[in-house]
Amino acid sequence: LGILQAAVASLVEPLPSRRAGSQPARLRVAMLAPPWIAVPPPGYGGIEAVVAILCEGLVGRGHEVTLFAAPGSRSPARVRPLLESAHPEEIQRSLYEVDHVATAFDAVDAAVQAGRPFDVVHDHCGFAAFANAHRITCPVLHTLHGPFTLETYAFYRRHAHKASVVAISRAQLRQGPPELRVAGVIPNSLDVASWPYRAKKDGYLLWVGRMTPEKGPHRAIAAARRAGRPLVIAGPVQPGQEAFFAAEVAPHVDSDAVRYVGEVGGSAKGELFAGAHALLMPIQWPEPFGMVMVEAMASGTPVIAFAQGSAEEIVRHGETGFLVEDEEQMAAAVAGVCALDPAACRAVALERYDIHAVVAAYELAYRTLVASPAGARPSAEAVGARQPAAAGVQAVG
Ligand code: UDP
Repeated sequence: LGILQAAVASLVEPLPSRRAGSQPARLRVAMLAPPWIAVPPPGYGGIEAVVAILCEGLVGRGHEVTLFAAPGSRSPARVRPLLESAHPEEIQRSLYEVDHVATAFDAVDAAVQAGRPFDVVHDHCGFAAFANAHRITCPVLHTLHGPFTLETYAFYRRHAHKASVVAISRAQLRQGPPELRVAGVIPNSLDVASWPYRAKKDGYLLWVGRMTPEKGPHRAIAAARRAGRPLVIAGPVQPGQEAFFAAEVAPHVDSDAVRYVGEVGGSAKGELFAGAHALLMPIQWPEPFGMVMVEAMASGTPVIAFAQGSAEEIVRHGETGFLVEDEEQMAAAVAGVCALDPAACRAVALERYDIHAVVAAYELAYRTLVASPAGARPSAEAVGARQPAAAGVQAVG
């Protein structure tokens, strides 16, 4: 890992304009975003936010990036929308995903024909690109954005040999099949400088996310009640979440103890994070990453999370927040937040999750793949079956 960190650090230097060794200094990257929501996302959209940051960072480091994404996308990369419209209401409809990916693959093939092939395709789509990655000549790096379920485990096992993967946490990777060709564990990133920071907080607790039982807005309500603090809830009610929201959240909402502010974005979102006493993360699922935890830390806001999935890697107990087991412990931890230093939360976000560190790690993963397209190791060997959870940039080398 030490050698790897040195390699990552060396990549933070500006690119030389000449060719280094047999690899071009400037990589040609095809960034394949999902077809559903524009990049950057107007509100909810974890993957799209990560793609936006990555494009910005790679272009900033001198790489040539073409972003295949939903119409309405904006980026310093060259933007190539593929379909006629975005499909935020039809997420996971195979018609759009297959159409989007097949059209992108046509463009990748056309670049080969034109004598200007991409060095790497970086795929953030669901499944179509990964399962067909061997059908294009360009190596494919696929970021695993979701958790493993019985179904996705079988899928990734069957198609593991076709592309390399990056996991976004060790917790996520531990759940995947050992056949995966793992290029590294690289966390999602954000531009810490663009998040407002406040050391002096207002009194409210904050919950931000999707209205699903595993994300736990109803448990946040219970914990906030016990702690005797007002709670602000933010997030869209996506298709399929109406009944849960109506039964478990809406009945508790008033303009005082539990305030629901709907989907938030832009500066209003930043201010909401920066002003909160703490972010509540009462998750009950193997959360593969949990971007909201890092956003809170960037704003100087500690996180109180259930010790599940990546929360154990992201939250440093007693420094950037607390790891707890249930609503009762969560409520008890609220008082302890006063002893935590908002500046330490911001500093950890900067050190581990800022755009510079993460872009350098991806660049290293691209270069490793270009040098040896089939070279990444199976995950069991790479992640180490019983390694303790750790966070930060951890490309496996
Ligand atoms: N988000 C947002 N507005 C909202 C609710 C969520 O912009 O009203 C964003 C949030 O800031 C985060 C992303 O959506 O960047 C959710 O990502 P996370 O990894 O926390 O959760 P998941 O991807 O599992 O939904």
